[in-house]
Amino acid sequence: MVEVRLENLTKKFGDFTAVNKLNLTIKDGEFLVLLGPSGCGKTTTLRMIAGLEEPTEGKIYFGDRDVTYLPPKDRNISMVFQSYAVWPHMTVYDNIAFPLKIKKVPKEEIDKKVRWAAELLQIENLLDRYPAQLSGGQRQRVAVARAIVVEPDVLLMDEPLSNLDAKLRVAMRAEIKKLQQRLKVTTIYVTHDQVEAMTMGDRIAVMNQGKLLQVGPPTEVYLNPKSVFVATFIGAPEMNILEVSVRENHLEGRGFKIELPQDIMDLLKDYMGKDVLFGIRPEHMIIEGIGEMAHMKRTTKVKGRVDFVEALGTDTIVHVVIGDELIKVKLPGHIPLEVGKEVNVVMDVDRIHIFDKSTEEAIV
Ligand code: ATP
Repeated sequence: MVEVRLENLTKKFGDFTAVNKLNLTIKDGEFLVLLGPSGCGKTTTLRMIAGLEEPTEGKIYFGDRDVTYLPPKDRNISMVFQSYAVWPHMTVYDNIAFPLKIKKVPKEEIDKKVRWAAELLQIENLLDRYPAQLSGGQRQRVAVARAIVVEPDVLLMDEPLSNLDAKLRVAMRAEIKKLQQRLKVTTIYVTHDQVEAMTMGDRIAVMNQGKLLQVGPPTEVYLNPKSVFVATFIGAPEMNILEVSVRENHLEGRGFKIELPQDIMDLLKDYMGKDVLFGIRPEHMIIEGIGEMAHMKRTTKVKGRVDFVEALGTDTIVHVVIGDELIKVKLPGHIPLEVGKEVNVVMDVDRIHIFDKSTEEAIV
């Protein structure tokens, strides 16, 4: 096990900066998720940590060891890819044994380790099969077994569950997380799926356009996003963002007002008369008379009209028109609500967010 430290890590492809001055320490034994949209530089970062890509600038340390320019084979890392990359002409046993054979590990020890890894991944009964005789999920288990069999210092995973169907993906999420907790191997896991990130990561590092925007435990990133990008990337349906202007004791939107307590308005005094972005998550509001509000210490109400109702079974997403804007409210359970009905939307005041309109960074 090691701590991985990225210092000012930068990768340019010609004029294009794919990874821009990344500073991040992944703790010994930690499960860190690199999360961001397609093209934000996650895979490039992972490939630099693996030694498959040379940084343009910056350093990579494993513990005290500078590994920036070491070839992959000298880093004691393992990587799992979305495409599994298991060898079709080898049995499952030989696939798992391969990295040990390269290291010239004695045959008996190879056998012990292969069986150990196969048992952890519950594929002991598949050892004689060829990859063509396996399901996608089983192939991915082989790839993970092959990655852990060498007992790497760092385990790197690049969207390993993307090729699996939705149900299997959910099951494998929990399995990989449990396996990592058992092995306590420092793990860096790349995904663009925010639910995967929330459920698996000890911490999440959110990237966009080559830059690291925020790092923290899932709940902290969810509750205290530092920017509109992070706020809207995490959570579904995404956070409602409304343009409002700051008045003496309320926020004025297009055709609606949001009254807020003095302590919050005080935080906005530099923005008096100016436009800001108001954010609230769908699950931090209810419709008056429907839904539980006992957990909300302080509330504010806004009048609206039901525009559309999405019944998801476990939840109901109610689209409400307030003034000239549309917001989504998420209520637990099945709520039969009539389109056109006048309602009061009740907001949990302690769960609101205010962002600077030009920088899109959090003020409150
Ligand atoms: P995805 O989830 O789609 O894989 P990502 O966040 O992993 O996205 P990267 O693969 O790291 O993104 O790519 C970051 C950016 O760098 C992209 O715009 C990509 O087109 C560019 N890029 C990656 N590799 C190269 C390369 N070898 N040459 C030129 N540009 C590249």
